[in-house]
Amino acid sequence: MQYRHPGVVFTSPELTYGTAAHELFASEAETLSEEEIKELINSKKPASFREIRFEGVYRRVKIKGILDFFYIKGGKVLLLLDYKFSNYKRIFPSHRIQVDTYGFLLNKNHLDTNDLICGIVIVKPEMKGRVDVYDDITPLLQAEAIKMRQRGIDVSYFNCPGIYGHLYHYSLDNSKRNLDWAIGYWRKQRNAIPTKKAHKCNVCQFKAEGLCKPALVTTRRH
Ligand code: SF4
Repeated sequence: MQYRHPGVVFTSPELTYGTAAHELFASEAETLSEEEIKELINSKKPASFREIRFEGVYRRVKIKGILDFFYIKGGKVLLLLDYKFSNYKRIFPSHRIQVDTYGFLLNKNHLDTNDLICGIVIVKPEMKGRVDVYDDITPLLQAEAIKMRQRGIDVSYFNCPGIYGHLYHYSLDNSKRNLDWAIGYWRKQRNAIPTKKAHKCNVCQFKAEGLCKPALVTTRRH
């Protein structure tokens, strides 16, 4: 919806917090030039990257994204993580689609994603200042990904106070299916698929601006 209606602006305390957190992560990281990044990747040495922008083209559509974190070893990407800051304690399909698209971008940029494990981590905003996402959480997920490979586990969930998420094996085919689905809407080959949950429509900016015909209406019970 946002792609076809770019003038619509979303704001929420969680979005604002998330943006600030990512800016902080980027400012704390060592800045590398594009050449240095390529060199590090080609060296096949183990390396972690964070807040790196990737681009690629799929079916003549330019896709770009800033990847929160990925880890490579021996020329393979072994772990890709995306951090969300929210009070929700669940993973939404849009989260998976986003991370799968990042996997697609890595693959499109000639990185080996055959053994890639992806993870989505939801951190409650109240954890601000109590946990360091990269120093405290990421090593736990790296250990969990190793365990998944060793034991042949497909999906792993984690749930500890203030932090929730899951890890899963990446599929290039899935990410292409997701992109086909999204591109169908962006190119106006299909309509948007409306939510079945009226409470979402109640706070949706597309409804407020009259841009969504199938918007649902909540009726109050008396
Ligand atoms: S108004 Fe409802 S159906 Fe329409 S985009 Fe918003 S949440 Fe989705």
